[in-house]
Amino acid sequence: DIARKLFSGKADFFWGTDSLGGLPPMHGIEIAFAGRSNVGKSSLVNALTRRKALARTSSTPGRTQELNFFRIGEGQPHAFTLVDMPGYGYAAVGKEKVAAWTELIHAYLRGRANLARVYVLIDARHGLKDNDLNVLDTLDKSAVSYQIVLTKADALKPGPLAERIRTTEQAVVRRAAAYPGVIATSSRTGDGMDALQAAIVRLLHE
Ligand code: GDP
Repeated sequence: DIARKLFSGKADFFWGTDSLGGLPPMHGIEIAFAGRSNVGKSSLVNALTRRKALARTSSTPGRTQELNFFRIGEGQPHAFTLVDMPGYGYAAVGKEKVAAWTELIHAYLRGRANLARVYVLIDARHGLKDNDLNVLDTLDKSAVSYQIVLTKADALKPGPLAERIRTTEQAVVRRAAAYPGVIATSSRTGDGMDALQAAIVRLLHE
């Protein structure tokens, strides 16, 4: 099927930048992944694209502090650009750096006409935090469509996980740009990966 073909096709890093002036030219649809540092974003991007190390995990510093652009499924009708955004809210780096990242993230989110959706990753164990809500505020204000993806779903038992999904849905349902539905995923077990891939393919059809 389309999703399988798309996500097992080519996936190439082609651009990284830590400044707004350094963004690649807009070309085709972009779908971005955002989340607090350590939320499991690199693991999710790798699981999604069936790569061991497309996105670098937080144990290998470097790329994750930039906006990184990957072409997914080049040559296929549903090819798109996956944007791995720098993790926010990492306390161990200086305040100035946090401010610079926040500025970059928010400016990118406001100004990118070909950005079709942002998947905002939330650690299923922790739920929405203040800095997540700030990012959602920016997305609402900029009318950038976003959907919540819970990560590390394997770390919760079914009951608490269902409760987390319910409370998270409740917290975003009235937000202006939130796309309905919360997708629970685990990069460890692969749970929810099909659902996320299917959501992306649906989005590319819109
Ligand atoms: P990033 O900083 O958001 O890119 O997060 P990473 O992908 O580097 O993951 C951060 C930490 O969370 C690592 O210790 C991972 O092993 C762990 N992690 C990532 N995905 C999962 C998951 O699906 N389940 C569990 N239990 N842990 C995960």
